[in-house]
Amino acid sequence: MNSINTIAFDADDTLWVNEPYFQEAEIAFCELLEEYLPHDTVSKELLDTEIRNLHLYGYGVKGFMLSMVETATRISKGAAPLSMIDKIIAIGHDLLQKPVELLDGVAETLDQLKGKYRLVVATKGDLLDQERKLKKSGLQNYFHHIEIMSDKRNTDYQKLIRHLDCRPENFLMIGNSIKSDILPVLENGGYAAHIPYHITWAHEHHEHKPESERFMEFKNIREVLECL
Ligand SMILES: [Mg+2]
Repeated sequence: MNSINTIAFDADDTLWVNEPYFQEAEIAFCELLEEYLPHDTVSKELLDTEIRNLHLYGYGVKGFMLSMVETATRISKGAAPLSMIDKIIAIGHDLLQKPVELLDGVAETLDQLKGKYRLVVATKGDLLDQERKLKKSGLQNYFHHIEIMSDKRNTDYQKLIRHLDCRPENFLMIGNSIKSDILPVLENGGYAAHIPYHITWAHEHHEHKPESERFMEFKNIREVLECL
């Protein structure tokens, strides 16, 4: 642990609230299509579309909007009125203008870490949207570097670690997704701390906790301070 000099934070549902907004948007979308299919079927269809499109659109609100349009067209067999597209766009615009609500303990923890460690944000999502959220969060000045990543695979972290000019054993990643924030970092030889959030996007679900000496699990971000 003494070797850690760089701490990277996932953003969505680690620094601030995100998934509840997406779930609200999804409910609004299911309501739009309820004359065609029950809510849970629409929701499953949307998830299938999103996953199928990830390699084309990446993660974020814009891809989510396009996947809603595609799902609506498919479910209604092309019969949905054009006014439905307006409503879907409105759902997306609403998501892009949500307030940024910091999670408990975030600001005070960053305050304690600043100056002692190099702090980094490592997040997926749309570039402009993540920049907006970071600005609105008021956290910008804590970070030495912001990395908005198209994906969080092993090789993406290798690139980031190289770019930061550190070694895996100097690097701690903190995030809410075992699949995206934890496993690839451990596989690269880095440290990883999981802070579960009460809801997780279905695509990020992961059942098993990793077994590694470099893995930690916290209930709240403040606990990071105790382990360093
Ligand atoms: Mg996250």
